[in-house]
Amino acid sequence: MAESFAPVRTTPLVGRIAIIGMGLIGSSLARAARELNLAGQIAAADRDPAVAARARALGLADTVSQSAAEAVAMADLVILCVPVGICGQVAEQIAGSLKPGAIVSDVGSVKAAVLEQVAPHLPAGVHFVPAHPVAGTEHSGPDAGFSSLFLNRWCILTPPDDADAAAVQRLRAFWEAMGAIVEVMTPQHHDLVLAITSHLPHLIAYNIVGTANDLEAVTQSEVIKFSAGGFRDFTRIAASDPTMWRDVFLHNKEAVLEMLGRFSEDLSVLTRAIRFGDGETLHKHFTRTRAIRRGIVSLGQDKPETEKLKG
Ligand code: NAP
Repeated sequence: MAESFAPVRTTPLVGRIAIIGMGLIGSSLARAARELNLAGQIAAADRDPAVAARARALGLADTVSQSAAEAVAMADLVILCVPVGICGQVAEQIAGSLKPGAIVSDVGSVKAAVLEQVAPHLPAGVHFVPAHPVAGTEHSGPDAGFSSLFLNRWCILTPPDDADAAAVQRLRAFWEAMGAIVEVMTPQHHDLVLAITSHLPHLIAYNIVGTANDLEAVTQSEVIKFSAGGFRDFTRIAASDPTMWRDVFLHNKEAVLEMLGRFSEDLSVLTRAIRFGDGETLHKHFTRTRAIRRGIVSLGQDKPETEKLKG
């Protein structure tokens, strides 16, 4: 049975942690690290002066800088919490300031592209262990974060083949200390799995909400009025951060196109069943999908009545 809380540590797990990007994920990490005593010192960075000021006002870290390079100096663990397409640029900015032996990680929703973009910038003796906490909400920014975001959620580590085993173990211990359940897989497998469980559902939500928005005015007001009939859940997903999701689709192109192809073929089968009044096919399909929902609930990955978390 999963824990309902993560215990506060008597001694910190890492000396100094640097978190780059004070958005939803970065600020949640900072909150959890502070609340659970995971780091002796927390250094944060955000390029936007207003966001950096807000992070200071919220007391999210011991130091908040606008410079990523400044934040990572002397850090034992560096976590990039910026959109997938920016990770390479940030790695380039911080490369010269990293402490020898430091672990660099990230939280990006796509893994192969991040590994490709970040690894070439990192100096020898620095360990790169990419990660993806499969937890989030549709909100963004430092006020949206909360310390229990990762509790009982999966965090997938995708270390390169030649990764230092001790560094992987230390990162695993860090995520487990936040209450996450850690799994290790290759970046390519991660991207394929997430293409169907997260990326395609977001694309479908963005698409259906866009379609509804393009309908004539009178119908549009009815769409909003009767949204509880299923549409409402799509609107929540389609409210997710546009920059983050643009980068996800641009950097997980092959896997998303593969899943989209499969999806379109399966949709054609359902379309045909509706057209020809084939109730048996429809009923069989809906019975199978109902069992998947029950499986998710029984694994503790959602409450029976609502769907709040995604990644
Ligand atoms: P967010 O709340 O929108 O925060 C994004 C952060 O990235 C902000 O600090 C932002 O800085 C920074 N940033 C954006 N563009 C930048 C640039 N060009 N240069 C430097 N910094 C830049 O997003 P988030 O949800 O925390 O997402 C961060 C990462 O977590 C993404 O890689 C995403 O794939 C991953 N992730 C998200 C979820 C989710 O559900 N949201 C779940 C799991 C993983 P400013 O403050 O200056 O805008």
